[in-house]
Amino acid sequence: MGTLKSKINIMILTQKKGSLILGSSGFLLLLSSLFFSPQDELLLLVASMLMMVSGSLLYFKKVYGSSLAGIKNDGVWFNALTAKGIWGWALGIALTGFYVAIYWFPEVLGFNPNGTSTGLVQVFDPLSYALNGNAATQWFLYGTLYTTAILLFGVKFIWKYRHNRYQIIRTISVMFFQLCFAFLIPEILGKLNPETPYFAKDLKNMWPLNYYFLDQWHLKNMLNSGNLGLFFLTFGLALMFIISPILTYFYGKRWYCSWVCGCGALAETAGDPFRQLSSKKISVWKFERWMIHVVLVFISVTTIAVLWSFLSSNSTMSWFSREQFIGGIVIFILVVMALLFFWKTGALSKDAKYSLLSLGIILIAVLSIQAFSGEKNILFINSYKLQKWYGFGIGAAFSGVLGVGFYPILGSRVWCRFGCPMAAILGLQQRLLSRFRITTNGGQCISCGNCSTYCEMGIDVRAYAQRGENIVRSSCVGCGICSAVCPRGVLKLENDRLENRINSENYPLGNTL
Ligand code: SF4
Ligand code: SF4
Repeated sequence: MGTLKSKINIMILTQKKGSLILGSSGFLLLLSSLFFSPQDELLLLVASMLMMVSGSLLYFKKVYGSSLAGIKNDGVWFNALTAKGIWGWALGIALTGFYVAIYWFPEVLGFNPNGTSTGLVQVFDPLSYALNGNAATQWFLYGTLYTTAILLFGVKFIWKYRHNRYQIIRTISVMFFQLCFAFLIPEILGKLNPETPYFAKDLKNMWPLNYYFLDQWHLKNMLNSGNLGLFFLTFGLALMFIISPILTYFYGKRWYCSWVCGCGALAETAGDPFRQLSSKKISVWKFERWMIHVVLVFISVTTIAVLWSFLSSNSTMSWFSREQFIGGIVIFILVVMALLFFWKTGALSKDAKYSLLSLGIILIAVLSIQAFSGEKNILFINSYKLQKWYGFGIGAAFSGVLGVGFYPILGSRVWCRFGCPMAAILGLQQRLLSRFRITTNGGQCISCGNCSTYCEMGIDVRAYAQRGENIVRSSCVGCGICSAVCPRGVLKLENDRLENRINSENYPLGNTL
């Protein structure tokens, strides 16, 4: 019996190793195109992809599919990849290097803006021609690898969490949105309507997710494209002001962050092995709140500045003056702040109130200086320079290089937690005006700490559970992993009435217990 068992174990180990070798060989074959330009790019693409996909799927099946259901995170703190060991750092450096190349040195990957590309980018030409009718760019290469990673690791995630229906449906949802809405549809629409400007190819045109949605060129394209342009402009505004607030009211920010968003999709699937690395310190929580709201103010000021110059230079918009625009924004901020302080005062902690108040005052001060000085540029800085800084600092360096490159060091949701302005808006609404909360049955909690360990947003879930307090945190993306890993069924993601949702009055906040 013992011999049979050890024979089976050896067989499984051999199969695991075999599948790992197959997948890694496919990856190395693809990477070889960085050094040797391929003779037959289609053959190289198909062969390397087939090897990577089949090797990874076989490996995941062996590790997760053939064992008993139940979440297995055994040994994550002893593994050099998942515990910031040598392999974790090596992967972090490699990912960061890849992002730096994509954003600033695409020629390293073989991209040639003036002619035929070579190397790694060239390998993706056949797929790019088939989908959008053009040669591949570094962005097409990136989109393809990004989508492949989400699909492959999505399958792994489903195997790993296969006893949990919420996790399965949620993962299928992010895989679907990434494959169809973020990758295939924009590419195919590009091929079918090569003349149509970009706005008509991107169905998730919503500010501040797409921070160029309110840019001069983007607005002009939409305004000058007849009914189609007006449809996309109206749809984008409806997403911002109607659809997103309604969905967040009913379901919390999870409808977007954990079910639709591409950044969230990568974090949940490929980033799953690193979720435990998010810091749970209170100091980091404080930093997170400042950081994410400062980014939100930055993109808001930038967008207002861009709209200001749009209104100044566009004669067709003469019915709406710059002063009316600034006045409207100041009134909007004042009304929101007044509502917050008089209607929702109990829902905000003291430092959250101070930070909101100071950010609101900064915004109003900037806008007032603007209106009274008659200065052409908001903050006396050219709006396009502001936007360039945002694109470089936040859009590229933060969301890409740091956000994904640092998965193995800082955890998988660095961008969502500290930088994403969309998450900041949805989070404010989730805290103040949403039916979503995680309820905790404190009497059942055995304080094992699994929930806090695997919360990718750094929330000390156990501290809430021990007190039987609802979790109503603006940063919670509703991934449900805390609930999935809890051995006692303490945590439940629920949508219910607003009354008594925040029940922390009798408890000290934070993880000091
Ligand atoms: S508290 Fe739970 S549901 Fe919210 S982000 Fe953390 S693990 Fe996900
Ligand atoms: S995982 Fe469950 S039992 Fe363990 S600390 Fe969290 S709520 Fe308590």
